Order: sequence, then structure tokens, then C-alpha cells
Amino acid sequence: MADFYKVLGIERNATQDEIKKAYRKKAIKYHPDKNPDDKEAEKKFKQVSESYEALGDEKKRRIYDQYGAEGLKGAAGMGGPGAGGFSSMDEALRTFMGAFGGRGGGSDSIFDSFFGGGGSHAQQGASKKTTITISFEEAGKGVEKEISIANNVECKTCHGSGAKSQSDIKTCSTCAGHGQVNQTRGFFSMTTTCPHCHGAGKMITNPCGSCSGSGFSKQKQNVKIPIPAGVDDGMRLKMSGYGDAGEGGGPSGDLYVFIRVKNHDLFLREGDDIILQLPLSFTDAALGCKKEIPTPLDGSCRISIPEGTQSGKLLRVKDAGFPNVHGHGKGDLLVQVNIETPVKLNTEQKNLLKEFNKLEGPQNSPKKKSFFEKLKVFF
Ligand SMILES: [Zn+2]
Ligand SMILES: [Zn+2]
Repeated sequence: MADFYKVLGIERNATQDEIKKAYRKKAIKYHPDKNPDDKEAEKKFKQVSESYEALGDEKKRRIYDQYGAEGLKGAAGMGGPGAGGFSSMDEALRTFMGAFGGRGGGSDSIFDSFFGGGGSHAQQGASKKTTITISFEEAGKGVEKEISIANNVECKTCHGSGAKSQSDIKTCSTCAGHGQVNQTRGFFSMTTTCPHCHGAGKMITNPCGSCSGSGFSKQKQNVKIPIPAGVDDGMRLKMSGYGDAGEGGGPSGDLYVFIRVKNHDLFLREGDDIILQLPLSFTDAALGCKKEIPTPLDGSCRISIPEGTQSGKLLRVKDAGFPNVHGHGKGDLLVQVNIETPVKLNTEQKNLLKEFNKLEGPQNSPKKKSFFEKLKVFF
């Protein structure tokens, strides 16, 4: 994958302002409206959009600087459309809208000459975030959770215009519909967003009764969140388009779902592997045995503990761990043996152990034997 900094033609220490400027310049150059049926330009446009999506966000940029593009794939949503880079043109265009469409945005002269300036008032709706807590087992098997969110949706009465009727929308007299005004301060002349219409270029003389002119109404929506198997604590899913409705034809915001996974009483997760501490009596460990082991994701399995197993030994049950959330196979179940010294012995048990002690030879305790041999060299 191409280096995002090189794609935008900027230094690694570029400021956010420089990043945005570089992106705007390149995005306009390769915009599909300007390069119809040009596959090479389309590819470039996607690349610069992808680079800006990563570097234009301080948090994503830090991840990229540290881990590269792969790191972002892990951090960004797994499910949902457009995940993991810009495979679709829609996603790239959405980034474009996001970078240009803000209220009063578009003071960039290149942008103005290309799009006619001023009149554009499209703005992406606000993105939302929510947290869902799931169990250890749900994380392993995947689960669908339904949540309720209150989103701004387009007002049904005025269809988002905010006006009682079409004739109640008038061109702003302060900026003559440009959305911007020139202000002179001393020697300087500056272009700023029109203070009267806030960049919209239009004024509403008679607001819609249902939404009081905002163009939106709040609506509760139930959203089903498909949580993929293998998801881990702290991961984030992106539900594209499930945020607030956009303004002036802008796209809807997104819904970011942060996943919390509850701890398990028995099992510990490490990456895609699961670790189980198995207490074992010293006779079972010495003689060897078969044990029924619970596996959190597929019921249980039988494992063989070989004769003479030492404490701390790791036994691996292949593919009984978590499925990898990106589809790269499965983790293992690692059973760690913990040998327990017997307690509360009765007289008969004590006598048997004393008998055993008499019969015990150095070959029965190889570690102890080698320890004392090393000790001899020492003295
Ligand atoms: Zn309305
Ligand atoms: Zn105005």
C-alpha cells in the first residue's frame, strides 16, 4: 500500500491544516466530475481520500504513524460497508463531502473556481457513538444486538428545508446568496462566512411549524448491530449512515459501536488464544490421566495428561480458541497444568506416602536431581 504522506505530497510532520490543504488540492485534481471515465484518476482519487481519512484525524494518524495502514484496519470497523480502506467510490466521495461541505467551508479559491463556490451548503450529519457490552461466549460466537438510538431525521413536513413552504425561502440579502461576505479591516480584506445566513445563502422567512425551522425531528430508531465472531474488547464497529441525517443534501453521519467484552471466571483471552488454568492432583499428574475440559465455544473436549506431567506445562487444544475476527483461522485453547500438593491427609494416606517416600529414588525427581548436582559444583 502506498505511503499516505507521499500520496498527499506532504512531510511527516505536516500540520492538520497542511494535510487538509494538500488533500483539497489533490481531491479536486482527481475528482471524478473533472475526470469522467478516467480509471487512473479514479484510483488516485480513492487513494488521496483514503490517505486523508487516516491523516486528517489525529487519532487515526497516530495509529498509522505507529502501525501503518494495517493498524488502521484493526482499529476501524470490521463489519459494515466500506470497511477497511476505500474499496468503493461512495466512501471516497463521502470523505470529500466531509472535507469540503462544512458550514461556510469552501473559502478555498481552487474549490470555488471548480464548484462555483458559495452556494454549496451540504454537511454530513453528526456521527454517534455507543458502547455494547457482550459476554465472553458472545464474543467467540458472534451475536446480533439491537439498540435504540435517537437520531435527527429529515422533518417530514418540510422535507428538511425548515420552511413552511417553498416561497418562504428567500435569498439572503446580506450576502446575496453567496454564503460569504468580504470584510475590510484596516489594510486587510477577508472573506468570512455570512453572519446572517451562516453560509447557507438562504433565509427562511416563515419557519416550518413541525420542526421550528431546523429541518429535523428527533426519532427513536432500533438498530440491529451484527457483531462478528472473534471481536475483542475495545474494538470498534462502524455502522455507516446510522448517525444524524445530513444537511442540505449532505450524507448521514455514522454510528460507531465500541465493544466491551466481559471477563470470564475460568478462561482468559490472549489474542485469539484462550488460556485455562487446570488444577491437577499430583497422583493424576504422576500417573497420567484423561480429563474432560470445558471449552467456552464448543462445549467440551477430552485431553490426555501424559504420565509425569510437571506443573506449569502447557497443553494445546488446536483450533478451540477464538475465530480470528478478520477471518485468519482460529486460535487455540491452552491448558496450563497446576499441580496441587495434597492437604488434610488422614493417617492412612500419610502412612502410604511415607512408604512411597522410602521407595522414591533420584530418578523420580529429575529436576531435584539436577539441582543438587549443580549445588555440589558450587561448594
Ligand atoms: Zn419541518
Ligand atoms: Zn447570507
